[in-house]
Amino acid sequence: MTQANHLACGDIIIIALPDHKPICQIKEMKSTTNEQKSCLIIGGGISGLIAGNMLQRQGIKVTILDKGRGIGGRLATRRIRNESYGQGVFDYGAQFFTVSDPQFQKWVDQWLEQGIIKEWSKQLTNIEKPCYCGVESNRNLAQYLAKDLDVHLQTRVIKIIWEADSWTIETEKGHGFQANILIMTPPIPQSLALLEDSDITLPSPIKSRLEQVTYYPCMTVLLLLDKLSLIPKPGGLRLKDYSLAWIACNHKKGISPEGFAVTLHSTPEFSQNNWDTEDSLVVEKLLKVATSWLGSTVVDYQVHRWRYSHPKTVYGELYLPLDQPGLLIMAGDVFSAMPSLDLSLNLEKATLSGLAAGNYLLQKIE
Ligand SMILES: Cc1cc2nc3c(=O)[nH]c(=O)nc-3n(C[C@H](O)[C@H](O)[C@H](O)COP(=O)(O)OP(=O)(O)OC[C@H]3O[C@@H](n4cnc5c(N)ncnc54)[C@H](O)[C@@H]3O)c2cc1C
Repeated sequence: MTQANHLACGDIIIIALPDHKPICQIKEMKSTTNEQKSCLIIGGGISGLIAGNMLQRQGIKVTILDKGRGIGGRLATRRIRNESYGQGVFDYGAQFFTVSDPQFQKWVDQWLEQGIIKEWSKQLTNIEKPCYCGVESNRNLAQYLAKDLDVHLQTRVIKIIWEADSWTIETEKGHGFQANILIMTPPIPQSLALLEDSDITLPSPIKSRLEQVTYYPCMTVLLLLDKLSLIPKPGGLRLKDYSLAWIACNHKKGISPEGFAVTLHSTPEFSQNNWDTEDSLVVEKLLKVATSWLGSTVVDYQVHRWRYSHPKTVYGELYLPLDQPGLLIMAGDVFSAMPSLDLSLNLEKATLSGLAAGNYLLQKIE
């Protein structure tokens, strides 16, 4: 039995130095019992949150660890406050999502019923189809899914260890967590790096398949304006331009009532070519295209770089189950049978992957 197994869930170990200096390290250990299975999920994006909800409903003890400051991963919202021009609320990752799969539709119907999401418009994709977004913000959907889960934010996992029939996870801040089952949902290059740092070797055909997965980058610019933009209702436009792919008015979307908040998404080509360009120049370049949709002055801005915004290629299956060294499942938007016809619509894929991973685990541990 390892030291961790002697601890109650959430116990804190205070390690005193021999010379009685102040505490040098605080270590949390999640223990497991024979009666209750436990699952650690790396990544609090939509795939991790959906899998976590499914498993917890079936009595499995779920802990989610995410390096981000907020829950949701690429389902992201940020605020910019300005004394004179109020608070702008920006969805700056996923903008909206659509539904094709009946399984996902059931979740979406519940979120609609609970007032967490709304139909933004039917006019945002090439085909007429409901496009949903969070009523308050897209991150709010992630917060809703996280509300009953044990979530640890600003918790970057740096090592995973399989020993004594369970996974032990080490975080950057020196905390430790333990469980029987592990689900990994970060973008594939980040998961591969973590496995390598942990000296966990994948079978080479699987490793090389994972290494072939690639992503498009995206640079997002958040603009706080002095007055309402000229972007036509419902407030989101796809552009056919070399540099700018998408422009959205969060005020018209209904999530930024107090501030005129506009989100810009650059194209993969522009993002690639300007990745190291300084923020002010990125904004200047994108404003050349965006300005005709703004009709107002920019009072503040922020730039966010998404290295892994959308999968360019997919893994070909809904999840990746591994039995060695212990039970480990990889999930996320890359785990899909085929790429989206519409390259920007991947949230449903991430959700379906999380659901499939959850189902697989439930059957496996029955
Ligand atoms: C700019 C942009 C626009 C988009 N627009 C749309 C859209 O309009 N419609 C749509 O359907 N989709 C859209 N998408 C895609 C959609 O957001 C994603 O497909 C989906 O959110 C992915 O979810 P996920 O759970 O697979 O991954 P993520 O949301 O990326 O979750 C992975 C999580 O892992 C965490 N993590 C990584 N490494 C570690 C570590 N070592 N320790 C702890 N945590 C770690 C990360 O912090 C992250 O939260 C967009 C994405 C971007 C970036």
